[in-house]
Amino acid sequence: MPASEFLLIDRYFSQLGVKRADVLLGIGDDCALLQVPEGQTLAVSIDTLVEGVHFFPDVDPESLGHKALAVNLSDLAAMGADPAWVTLALTLPQIDETWLEAFCCGFSTLAKRHRVQLVGGDTTRGPLTISVQVHGFVDPAMALRRDSARPGDLIYVTGTLGDAGLALLGKTEGLSLGEPQATLQQRLDWPEPRVGVSQTLRDLASAAIDISDGLLADLGHICQRSGVGAMLNLPEIPLSDPVKKHIQQTQKWSLPLSAGDDYELCLIVPAENQAELEERVPGLDVRISLVGQIESSSGIRCLDDTGAPIDIQSGGYDHFRDR
Ligand code: ADP
Ligand code: MG
Repeated sequence: MPASEFLLIDRYFSQLGVKRADVLLGIGDDCALLQVPEGQTLAVSIDTLVEGVHFFPDVDPESLGHKALAVNLSDLAAMGADPAWVTLALTLPQIDETWLEAFCCGFSTLAKRHRVQLVGGDTTRGPLTISVQVHGFVDPAMALRRDSARPGDLIYVTGTLGDAGLALLGKTEGLSLGEPQATLQQRLDWPEPRVGVSQTLRDLASAAIDISDGLLADLGHICQRSGVGAMLNLPEIPLSDPVKKHIQQTQKWSLPLSAGDDYELCLIVPAENQAELEERVPGLDVRISLVGQIESSSGIRCLDDTGAPIDIQSGGYDHFRDR
């Protein structure tokens, strides 16, 4: 990076997000010095967005800044952790201050909303790549791990599934989606990490995952790690009207089950906690739907409205799979 690298850091990154008391030393030294609260452990996760792989070159930089942080906050929510700090490794082809300003605006607005402080990072020149690492706090006994689902547990999902996938399909296949296009595009570009849902329901859940690669693939990870299987009631899968219409037209469930980028939560809840969960639902800012149950036999069975099994080709997005 040119001599202006430090100017850039000072101008765009040094004050990003909120100022937290547990940051003993933030941006500007060799390392940040951070204080984890007593009795809590650090939950850490990193995600990388590469131009041309994870986003189109013409994407709005403000939404990109939002999404880069949102997908990481979604991982913290899926672990039942409270967001605290974030680091940002930015590789930029050139210094474009208009782009940077918009990117930081999207990033910072979401960071403030979740009381997150940017505490460090790295800035280099090269093909546009954004790596964001988040740090959150969780009581280790309360963490929503993937390996603790048990037969009989209930499967809940937040929001609606398949909207981001339909927006992407619209763009890649040149489909005309009509008036809902803007709403679907919003779901793809501005995903809302379900931090509030996680904080409200985490003590009732036994396991969780965020749906980034499609429900079948992500629930499959929970099943595999927990040594269980699952039954999904397809009529209970929450769908927006445009996705419903798409399923009616194509007779395919691939959008809500296997398309990625929804960033909704899949929560596994022991049946004895169902009543308490339902009591808390009115306090949530998003709908939550009971879509199935964990079973002892392996694999995921999808049932139609008559209870008959439907054969669905599985698999979410896998960067290294032959296609
Ligand atoms: P070093 O040479 O020790 O790696 P740098 O020159 O890369 O230090 O960075 C100087 C300071 O600015 C460090 O505290 C670093 O964490 C911070 N920083 C650099 N780039 C970013 C960025 N993109 N976002 C946030 N902080 C950054
Ligand atoms: Mg560095």
